[in-house]
Amino acid sequence: MNNKTNYEYLLSDLSTLSGVGTKTKNLLKKKNINNLFDLLWKLPKSYTDRSLSSKIKDLKIGEIQTVSVIPQKYNFPRIRKLPNRVLCADETGEIDCIFFNSYEGYIKKILPLGKEITVSGKIGYFRNKYQITNPKYVSEDSALIKQVHNNYSLMDGVSEKIYNKILSQIISNLPDFSEWHSKNIMSKFQNISWNKSIKELHKPENIGNYKSNFYRRLAFDEIFSTFLVNSEIRKKIKRIKKKNKIINTIKQNSFIENLDFTLTKDQIKSLNEINKDLSSSNKMFRLLQGDVGSGKTIVSLLAALNTINSGFQVALMAPTEILARQHFNLAKKIFPTNINLELISGKSEYREKKEILKKLENNKINIIFGTHAIFQKKVIYKKLGLIIIDEQHKFGVNQRKRLSDKGGVDCDVLLMTATPIPRTLTMTIYGDMDISIIREKPKNRKPIKTYSKLETKIDDVLKFINNQIKLGNQIFWVCPLIEESKKLDHSSAVLKFKYLNKKFPNQVSLLHGKTHLEEKNTILNDFLNNKFKILVSTTIIEVGIDFPNANVIVIENANKFGLSQLHQLRGRVGRGNKDSTCILMFKSNLSDNAKKRIKILKNSNDGFLISEEDMKLRGFGDILGFKQSGIKNFKLADPIHNNDLFILAEKEMKRIEKSDKDIRKFKPLIKLYDRADIINDIV
Ligand code: ADP
Ligand code: MG
Repeated sequence: MNNKTNYEYLLSDLSTLSGVGTKTKNLLKKKNINNLFDLLWKLPKSYTDRSLSSKIKDLKIGEIQTVSVIPQKYNFPRIRKLPNRVLCADETGEIDCIFFNSYEGYIKKILPLGKEITVSGKIGYFRNKYQITNPKYVSEDSALIKQVHNNYSLMDGVSEKIYNKILSQIISNLPDFSEWHSKNIMSKFQNISWNKSIKELHKPENIGNYKSNFYRRLAFDEIFSTFLVNSEIRKKIKRIKKKNKIINTIKQNSFIENLDFTLTKDQIKSLNEINKDLSSSNKMFRLLQGDVGSGKTIVSLLAALNTINSGFQVALMAPTEILARQHFNLAKKIFPTNINLELISGKSEYREKKEILKKLENNKINIIFGTHAIFQKKVIYKKLGLIIIDEQHKFGVNQRKRLSDKGGVDCDVLLMTATPIPRTLTMTIYGDMDISIIREKPKNRKPIKTYSKLETKIDDVLKFINNQIKLGNQIFWVCPLIEESKKLDHSSAVLKFKYLNKKFPNQVSLLHGKTHLEEKNTILNDFLNNKFKILVSTTIIEVGIDFPNANVIVIENANKFGLSQLHQLRGRVGRGNKDSTCILMFKSNLSDNAKKRIKILKNSNDGFLISEEDMKLRGFGDILGFKQSGIKNFKLADPIHNNDLFILAEKEMKRIEKSDKDIRKFKPLIKLYDRADIINDIV
């Protein structure tokens, strides 16, 4: 086999391996191990040294020892429950090999009488004789046994021995790739090759050696391949030629002057970045990332206005109808009257809907608002020039890529998300898009006062709420998230609803995962219109909706949530100009970690900073949005411990993008680390 560039060997099916039966194969598949490459990342947890053999007289009871013996005599009792035994000996003494539940045929095969056999296992002592029970390491070939054996974390049904055998097979056939990294990058890892790194990684003495060159090189490969794939997707989308928009800055600026607030610096900067894309002849695929309440909507409406003034249509999609309606109402209020806007709603009459569709097709509507319904097949646009998608954090790379194809070539795409993530993850999760960030909040914002309270002090909380209601304010009450059970989750909200409804009769409503969509919309609308005071819910309260009159949020069992999520929930309030409060409730005395987290929340209202802290405390797997991103978890790389590698990869990526290097030399890297499953058409 030509191993030089053969990544295909590593991508081949498990049946390529000798000694892997269907049963093992299926067990591995269940663990998402489908090819040889996947197996490389199951690392040894510890090792057992079976390399030194002893004579029987020197065996140490209770320890794992290796001994070469000659089987002398079988003893297969006819009574069930009694074990089979094989008497073995060397010139210094005797030892019994004991077998529970093994067939005679098998025993005779592995321990044939008169032949020298090497056996390794834990040494016991019974009735004045050494014994090994159910020995797993038995062979005529002593070299096979006398080794250091890696212990992999065992999976159901796949024995360590088989696993060891499989891995040593792959590692001895490991392809030797031509180096894909630049000299500069290689110098950071003392020039260790990929092949050598994998071999080092599996050496027993290297277990847990995270700071080593081989470990870091492999982590870097993983990070870099992700960035590379993202960059290729981005380049591919940007290569699409479109008709550029012509920005009417006079109209834009007079609109901005008429707003009842001044835009923040970051809002202006983002708008300029978007305008540049709109007026370029390459398709825009941009993410507008900003903390809750940072004012993304107005930026997107300005982009819409500019697009409309350039003679194109705009479609704005929100995740829920109520949010779509809120955007629609806002636009209706602030847009010049000559702009035609419509909302496609689930409630619209059939006739009305048909009318809207006709108008869209005839370019009589400039901007349409709605949920995903606005992208159904039957919705035909005459001249769609911009798609805006609000709160898209649930979309993964694949969905985003599909989205970029929507709307035809002339259509730019702007996505918005209120999920700040740590910087190191931005390239990982959103690297397929250009990114504008709004970090700074509008100046008139009052900080949300954040308190922690023991659950036993609920009376204090009720008193506080009572006062707030008297002041005309509204309250969100978020019930514990119990991940283990959706049912429990839902019932705890129901119980709390009943409890609060007794204290505040007819002032409380309930929302949970099982609430019917239409009922949910009604409840949210009623809350928006101040028809009741307290909304009890699980964590499903929608992102993005402005409830200007709600200024208190109570979060029960707050230690169940990550920092980012608490921040996100807290962001439901504090959008208006009232003083707002967030009360975090806890079941018992706080752990040090919990105290640390509350301190961070109390001291900061910066979602980006909080997400960094969250990642430090809980690891990146829990960061909001990461799980939905469509990016598989890293195998070795860790955004916290390998922060420097993420930065290095970002730098290297920019260098390669700038020099517009042929990326074909990275082909094995990309093919092997296909973390997004979308790269088939790239290399
Ligand atoms: P998000 O970024 O979470 O989508 P929104 O766009 O809903 O935030 O804005 C939240 C609130 O802030 C809205 O009521 C909006 O009118 C207001 N707002 C936006 N920009 C500014 C600004 N520059 N100054 C003051 N208020 C602003
Ligand atoms: Mg929003």
